[in-house]
Amino acid sequence: MVGLASALALQAEGHKVTVLDPKGPGEGATMGNPGGLSLSSIFPTAVPGIHRQMPGWLLDPLGPLKIRWSHLPALAPWLWHFLRAANPAQVARATAALHALTAPAREAYAPLLARAGAQRLVQWRGHLMVYRSAEAMAAEAAGWRKRAALGIAAEDLPLDAPRAMEPALDPAYRWGRFVPGNGHVSDPRALARLFAEALVRDGGAFLPRGATGFALEGGRVTAVKTPQGDLPCDAVVLAAGSASAPLARQLGDKVPLEAERGYHAEVSESEIELKRPVFATGEKIFAASMETGLRFAGTAEFARPGTPPDWRRAEGLLALGQRLFPALREPGAVEHRTRWMGLRPGTPDSLPALGPASGARNAVHAFGHGHIGITGAAMTGRVVAALIAGRPSSVPLAPYHPARFQRRVSSD
Ligand SMILES: Cc1cc2nc3c(=O)[nH]c(=O)nc-3n(C[C@H](O)[C@H](O)[C@H](O)COP(=O)(O)OP(=O)(O)OC[C@H]3O[C@@H](n4cnc5c(N)ncnc54)[C@H](O)[C@@H]3O)c2cc1C
Repeated sequence: MVGLASALALQAEGHKVTVLDPKGPGEGATMGNPGGLSLSSIFPTAVPGIHRQMPGWLLDPLGPLKIRWSHLPALAPWLWHFLRAANPAQVARATAALHALTAPAREAYAPLLARAGAQRLVQWRGHLMVYRSAEAMAAEAAGWRKRAALGIAAEDLPLDAPRAMEPALDPAYRWGRFVPGNGHVSDPRALARLFAEALVRDGGAFLPRGATGFALEGGRVTAVKTPQGDLPCDAVVLAAGSASAPLARQLGDKVPLEAERGYHAEVSESEIELKRPVFATGEKIFAASMETGLRFAGTAEFARPGTPPDWRRAEGLLALGQRLFPALREPGAVEHRTRWMGLRPGTPDSLPALGPASGARNAVHAFGHGHIGITGAAMTGRVVAALIAGRPSSVPLAPYHPARFQRRVSSD
């Protein structure tokens, strides 16, 4: 999504754009996520006190966040940066930077959707946060006050209002908060495909090839290397999601990037039709009616690259979905279902690497969007277009600097 949104933004400025992706449009992390346009997702994962939760991540096999023991040695440098980021000053900086990329989502997506004829795939009907106790809801109040200070509205609902808004909900979820400014993509893969079609229709190209490296001359990229030959270029944007780090290295930047494995379970023929996404924050599960079914998504797992999916995690999401929606507990109600695992491109400070490459003047990094890649893709595209044009970006770029982790290490 990030690459295609950037491609459309560049094309709108008159560039001749070619997108390379060996798997086709929207097959990465974009494919199976639940499509939350979450303008309220502005807090990084690394917050003060987070280290106290880490033993649980190692020990609880099915907890919402899991680190496989076998991956711990390779993950250590990433974790080191993660713990370093868990301080109040960095949290404030990351919050402002996440807000800057996500807040303009609606306005930034509008021209892309119009060009691609994709308006039907995006709805702006808010998100519903649900809780099983007043205490659980109150525990998040401070976060919502911080959001309110940034202009992100949320409404504390009267008791039992969640079920009045979404009749399929279990009555135990009596407490709720409504976030009117959030939206939803009802099929992220279909959206990516429509973006790719628009790109090609307007004179660009989408090639089913993988980039293996770059030809560099005099501090500039002159061509992108692929197994089928070199593709000459005037400028390059690296937006390969969780696979970006080795390519970024060739462009002079060492970015700690981990695949944060998330899962979904989707009930294909559900009678439940949610009017807007429902997020049970206690259970850490996001539920949304998609074009293809009722999708439950969440969990994060760190494992060695290539480790087979742990489908118990998808089944666990389904069990939580059944807790949310009683109709799914009926015999046969979840018989037709699919499951998916995807790789979120995760940096230790939850911010993407977005900015000029250190080793090539005409290369721009745009990867590492973690949990907000769908929400932040359109605004990222605008930033990318400004960088390629040599214009100042409308958002301050320092927090996303691709070399920020290197600089920290050397300044120690
Ligand atoms: C369970 C789950 C739930 C999520 N929920 C949300 C949500 O509600 N809202 C939200 O905003 N975000 C959400 N996300 C995060 C979101 O999915 C990602 O941030 C986003 O999809 C990242 O987009 P991307 O374009 O950077 O990466 P990807 O979608 O992974 O795309 C990268 C592309 O690069 C291609 N590629 C790889 N290597 C090469 C190469 N060498 N050459 C060429 N191409 C290459 C891949 O084939 C892939 O298609 C969720 C993620 C998960 C897993």
